[in-house]
Amino acid sequence: MKYLKIFILAFMLASLFFLEGNCAEKETVTLPIVMYHHISNDPSKWNKYVISIEEFRADMEYLYSKGFESINFSQLLAWQKGEFDMPEKPFMISFDDGFTSTAAYAEPIMKELGFNGIAAIIGSVCDEFSQNGENDAELSSLSWEEAVKMAERGTIELQCHTWNLHKNTNPIGCSKRKGESSEEYRYRISSDLSKFLSGCRENGVEVAMSIAYPFGAYNEEISDIVMDMGFLGAFTCTEEINVLTGEPKELYYLGRFNRPHGISSENFFKKWENNY
Ligand SMILES: [Zn+2]
Repeated sequence: MKYLKIFILAFMLASLFFLEGNCAEKETVTLPIVMYHHISNDPSKWNKYVISIEEFRADMEYLYSKGFESINFSQLLAWQKGEFDMPEKPFMISFDDGFTSTAAYAEPIMKELGFNGIAAIIGSVCDEFSQNGENDAELSSLSWEEAVKMAERGTIELQCHTWNLHKNTNPIGCSKRKGESSEEYRYRISSDLSKFLSGCRENGVEVAMSIAYPFGAYNEEISDIVMDMGFLGAFTCTEEINVLTGEPKELYYLGRFNRPHGISSENFFKKWENNY
């Protein structure tokens, strides 16, 4: 009897070690994401959200020299499904607002270094620039036609930045209105996002099924809404490095670091380097 007890105890301990060992083997991925907006040649425009072409190039060359390899959202999804091997030092390049400068200035530099990325477009703005015909790297945003071309070139994939909720007023972005019921909120947000998806479809723009929340405004309710609509991920503006385990839900809270003007690449990215 005594031996039986010892045997059972030993068996339980061995099982525990086996389980622990399996958990420890589970691959976690450290994925920092950088967020850009407009890039301009005009020094009077440089600020927290507008950087120079030289700064963008310096960033890319710095990351390249440190062995970082970019992935896009589709690759992240493929990794989650076990269909893509992560590089040793993955990171993601994201652009918000769909400026023409993303295509004109950033994309050629990324292509040169073998990087890819993702850009969030605003449906109503694509409409506006399709109508006014403006296509100026300094001043314009992508038209539907330019968005189609960008998606087809494949260096930068596209994602949702809402149809027309990119407003820095009350409520900011996708936030809930004061006094708005959950039903009203769900209806308002899903109507906007459906309009975005049908706008992309009608204009032949292929988008990744992810959303960048305008101004980073999000809450638990909108996470549920975008999940129910079939979005597979969401980008916030929370400045944190993503540590991913492969759990689908974690892709709905992807943190990003906004890259402002006036800081060296080395100083900006050192918070990433400390994680390797
Ligand atoms: Zn934005």
